Amino acid sequence: MNTLIAVDNSGSYRVTLAVTTDLCEQAMQIHGCTPTSAAALGRTLTCAGMMGLGLKGLGDKLTVQIKGDGPAQQILATADALGRVKGYIANPAAEMPPRSDGHLNVGGIVGKGSLTVIKDLGLKEPYVGTIPLVNGEIARDFTQYFAASEQQPGSVALGVRLTKDLTHVAYAGGFIVHVLPDAKEEALDALEETLFLLDDLTLLIQDAEGDLYKLLDIIFGKLPEEFRPHVLEERSVSWLCDCSRERMAKALVSIGRKDLTEIIEEDHGAELTCQFCLKKYYFDEQELRTLLEEASHGQD
Ligand SMILES: [Zn+2]
Repeated sequence: MNTLIAVDNSGSYRVTLAVTTDLCEQAMQIHGCTPTSAAALGRTLTCAGMMGLGLKGLGDKLTVQIKGDGPAQQILATADALGRVKGYIANPAAEMPPRSDGHLNVGGIVGKGSLTVIKDLGLKEPYVGTIPLVNGEIARDFTQYFAASEQQPGSVALGVRLTKDLTHVAYAGGFIVHVLPDAKEEALDALEETLFLLDDLTLLIQDAEGDLYKLLDIIFGKLPEEFRPHVLEERSVSWLCDCSRERMAKALVSIGRKDLTEIIEEDHGAELTCQFCLKKYYFDEQELRTLLEEASHGQD
């Protein structure tokens, strides 16, 4: 359990709060990220994971795509209703000097561009929402996305802090606050002030020693009793790549007979790498010929 879903006592807002240190550390190590690209990818994975928990159907999935003109190029994350998350950053070597306030320059490596969310809810057409990036720092971009694309005003905070030697994730987490339809104005005013005065989220996670209930209290505990959140659900957000040999084989079949024949005749085998977890799958000539037969049947 690393995520809490809570609603305040006046029914004015709902909060999803997650500590995702393990998730962000795994992503950083798998992709060999620089400090700033680890922060960019970690923030994106954290928000995608929390959004995934908001999906209604068990088979529902969402994809978050951040495309910018900075050196990171693209960040992609997918999440499902069970809190399983995977993702990658197109250029994990992207790096820039820190900002003047000492923070990692995530907005710098992302640049100007767009944030797109694709929700596959098992319907004929997926839901797609796109907004221009606000500042590429990810949290404000998601805040803007919720307000503009989902008509869900609120606030998003995301943080990834690295160890002193910048090689591991020390603390990471985030929260999404959504204003509910019957919100009391007084509650929202108090909430806005609380969030405005909030310290760096990763420092608060450190103060709470990673304990979610403590963290919830540190963030919202100063609000008047009636506007404090009470926990509805304990959930989990964690890294899981669901790639498999079968999926990779399907991908090979889908490139078609002509290209597959070329691979067989020229390379006598194929090595495919999962872009999410970098696991390698090797198919020898014999296996490729079997797949070629499948591809041929598909085209009849
Ligand atoms: Zn994989």
